[in-house]
Amino acid sequence: MIHVIGAGLAGSEAAWQLAERGHRVRLSEMRPRWQTPAHLTDRAAEMVCSNSFKSDDAHSATGILKAEMRRMNSLVLCCAEATRVPAGNSLAVDREAFSVSVTEALRTHPNIQWDASLVESPDLAGPTLIATGPLTAEPLADWLSRITGADRLHFYDAIAPIVERESIDMDIAWLASRYDKGGADFINCPLDQAQYERFLDALLAAERAPLHDFDTPYFEACLPIEVMADRGRETLRHGPMKPVGLDDPRTGRWPHAVVQLRQDTVAGDLYNLVGFQTRLKWSAQREVFHLIPGLESAEFVRFGSIHRNTYIQAPAVLDATLAVKNVPCLWIAGQLSGVEGYLESAAAGLAAAFAMDRSARELPPAPFPRETMLGSLLHYLAHAAPSEFGPTNAMIGLLPALPEGAVDLRGLKRSGGTRAVKVAKGEAHRARALQALERHLT
Ligand code: FAD
Repeated sequence: MIHVIGAGLAGSEAAWQLAERGHRVRLSEMRPRWQTPAHLTDRAAEMVCSNSFKSDDAHSATGILKAEMRRMNSLVLCCAEATRVPAGNSLAVDREAFSVSVTEALRTHPNIQWDASLVESPDLAGPTLIATGPLTAEPLADWLSRITGADRLHFYDAIAPIVERESIDMDIAWLASRYDKGGADFINCPLDQAQYERFLDALLAAERAPLHDFDTPYFEACLPIEVMADRGRETLRHGPMKPVGLDDPRTGRWPHAVVQLRQDTVAGDLYNLVGFQTRLKWSAQREVFHLIPGLESAEFVRFGSIHRNTYIQAPAVLDATLAVKNVPCLWIAGQLSGVEGYLESAAAGLAAAFAMDRSARELPPAPFPRETMLGSLLHYLAHAAPSEFGPTNAMIGLLPALPEGAVDLRGLKRSGGTRAVKVAKGEAHRARALQALERHLT
């Protein structure tokens, strides 16, 4: 018997995939007897906030991940498609109909035994998957921190926005490290006094996301940028917008303030705004951060956020099949494993089920190929620098670079601009991912 703990997006997908492969599954879910601060029902795969599985564009990272999951008969995707509502190029669902259909599929599966209980410490008598999500109940979180090490379990998430490198105006920004120490590693966007004051006014006036009772109090070392700004008009100039040691090559002097961007992916196509973790609403982030010189046309691939989120320091704890390195027969999936989002969590549940199935059949572990979106996501979890690790969405930047010449960059730029290049690159990634997945599955 395989034990799956948590019937959220990841646990539901995993339990169903395992059951479909003939394994007997005990699926433990604590709701409705014990609720999380965000869930409202007793159903499986409840979507606690938005009702969207994000873009369905074929060339987008989430479009590629969906194509891979479809190929692997994902229960979550199948139920999402059956309950979809109009939402442009996104896959959005009627959340109630969606979770009813997932629950029905699990409850009526002959290989799944539903166990309405809060698991405090898994007995590990057989293969076990923990998929208890960002709001994992406390006794289990305590157990996990004993198993993984207290410093490897995190309880909140502070994310700075990430932009595409190509969309930064390098006629304004320049590459340098402070006092030229350690190479020209950062992209620096300079602000003069008037630009700084204007940026500050917009930041202070921008709309903030509401705080919920399940949100953590802020940590002094990781305050939202707007909360720092509340403390005084000079605070940012002495914090994340400090200009010292950064000579603007056009003036030979330090600007009044500087926004630094740090490389976010090995490929170097994505950069994050250093120290700009924020709770501004997404529309406000776009508006305010576009005021930064050099970022006027920046394409955001991810907005900043700060919220409660229980997750492990995956690179120290997991391998690329989501198995816990030092504990036999234990896997972790979903948001707890360090992915972010409904879709990514379901994908991680699917991957864990494939790995557990192989293990039960005494086959060696077989991580998904790097060329697939799922493989790249899990590779990142297993191989990111542990101290810098933060939960991640599916992003094109996680995939290995395309071979030279795979896309006619020059021709496309001339005919269709950066949008055409982006679409063509995404399509090339998708074709390569699906071929690699096919080879992996056959
Ligand atoms: P969950 O879906 O949370 O499932 C975990 C399950 O485990 C729950 O059913 C829980 O009851 C159960 N459980 C917990 N502890 C125990 C225990 N000890 N024993 C038994 N059962 C247990 N993602 C998005 O893509 N879009 C959004 O808009 C979005 N909004 C969010 C808003 C909030 C407030 C939060 C907290 C998260 C949000 N997320 C959002 C992230 C979202 O939680 C994940 O994308 C997704 O739900 C994670 O799936 P999961 O299976 O890992 O966890």
